[in-house]
Amino acid sequence: MAAPITQISSAANPVSSPPQMVPSSTCLRCDVCCRFPDPDSPLRPYFTGPEVRQAVAAGVEADRFPSPGGGQISLVPDEQGEGFHCPAFNPVTSVCKIYEQRPLDCRLYPLVLMWNERHDEVMLGWDSKCPFMRDQVPDAIRQHADRAIEWLNSREVLAAVSNHLRLIGRFQADVAELSPLPAVTLALSRRWGKVPIHRLTLDDVSRLTAALHRSGLPEARSLAAYSAPYHYLCGTLLSYWWAELDGAFCLFVESPDGWFMPLPPLTKGPIEKPIAASFEFMRRRNGDSAVSRIENISELVASRLRPSGYRLVPKDGDYLYRAEELAALAGDRFKSQRALCNRIERMNGVAVTPYALGDRAECRKLLQRWRGQKRTGALDSLGRLLLDDALSSHEIVWSHAFDLRLSGTVVRIDGTIRAYTFGYWLTGTTWCVLLEVADRTVSGLAQYLFRDTCRAALSQGAEFINTMDDAGLPGLGLSKRSYHPVTQVQNFILTEDRGL
Ligand code: SF4
Repeated sequence: MAAPITQISSAANPVSSPPQMVPSSTCLRCDVCCRFPDPDSPLRPYFTGPEVRQAVAAGVEADRFPSPGGGQISLVPDEQGEGFHCPAFNPVTSVCKIYEQRPLDCRLYPLVLMWNERHDEVMLGWDSKCPFMRDQVPDAIRQHADRAIEWLNSREVLAAVSNHLRLIGRFQADVAELSPLPAVTLALSRRWGKVPIHRLTLDDVSRLTAALHRSGLPEARSLAAYSAPYHYLCGTLLSYWWAELDGAFCLFVESPDGWFMPLPPLTKGPIEKPIAASFEFMRRRNGDSAVSRIENISELVASRLRPSGYRLVPKDGDYLYRAEELAALAGDRFKSQRALCNRIERMNGVAVTPYALGDRAECRKLLQRWRGQKRTGALDSLGRLLLDDALSSHEIVWSHAFDLRLSGTVVRIDGTIRAYTFGYWLTGTTWCVLLEVADRTVSGLAQYLFRDTCRAALSQGAEFINTMDDAGLPGLGLSKRSYHPVTQVQNFILTEDRGL
């Protein structure tokens, strides 16, 4: 990930710089670094909190960082091609505009910190994609690695690395393993415990889906959160991790306030032991902070846990509708929505088609326009945060709709995309609307697209439509209630009872 410049200064960096091997002349000719095929590439650079502050001070937009406390930077689409690049990278000059302040993750490259295949030891590897490393004889690389290991084993670097679990990447078959790093492994296990914990990546989506099905949580009237794409997309804002605890698949979120669980432990068997192990796991990271909690507890799971003395606090749930009603919009109570749909029906040049990857660039333009339109309206800070997050999560949806089993629809007016929506099947009879964007200057377009989505879902067997919760946004709540939900899905937040 390192970009070219000959002079290296470590003075401004939170920890000293590792030894460097690749000369800037090579970097200038390279077309690998700082560029990535996907918006959610697991290899995009990780910035610690101080590194985020330095990068922002050096000119990188603050909204490119999901959290001021540290995280992987959000990439930007490459205007010339189909891929993505780091926002600090100038694709015309191939120069990193924050080279002096680039994060440790980039300063180490093409050396890489990663877990071994068993995920029980940290390894130093070298990325065979770096052209310079490909040309080097192994002896030169080994000598360079020895110098890097000496640097990594220093007290200052061990402390920095062990505070940031995310600096250790997952095992990659195309990264050559150079040496185990026992001192780094030990520092991490002292800081975080011995239980192996993994970042939730695209490769884990099928694992999470299987665990959800085994748990029996997804049901016709259950929460949209009982699906893997929901959480994978939330990962653009917060860091998602998973671990196996007492035979259960446990999903964790690392937020700026601390660690919590967005789902109960996923298991076929008794849940009490995995719950106790999960709280123990969070306590190790959060201390006694009240942030340790488990969200999206269903009524069934809650009824099993009440006798154990846990505290259960009800939370606003997803809006659930009858598909048949929304497809028809019949009667007085849907009069205004029907009138808006009729406006679009009377227009010429309206075409509704399934989303295709080739629609991505046009959807991107529409999203930019839509965000501008929304910003001119009354939005509170949460609304703004969700709007900022939309950029990254929609980018992932456009790129990985197929991998995430999402289905999308676009509406063109006179050949130009003016609205799009994506959703997924929670069960064979419940369709969840994940996101919807409609040009706000075309009155009735959002209502028309929503009705079309419900009609399509009904024709494929949907009994219910789930539109998720309203995120506490009053305007959104009002709009969702105007469609007359049959219920809001009951759910709870679980905390340990402290007897307060
Ligand atoms: S911070 Fe600089 S070196 Fe690191 S990926 Fe971005 S552009 Fe490249």
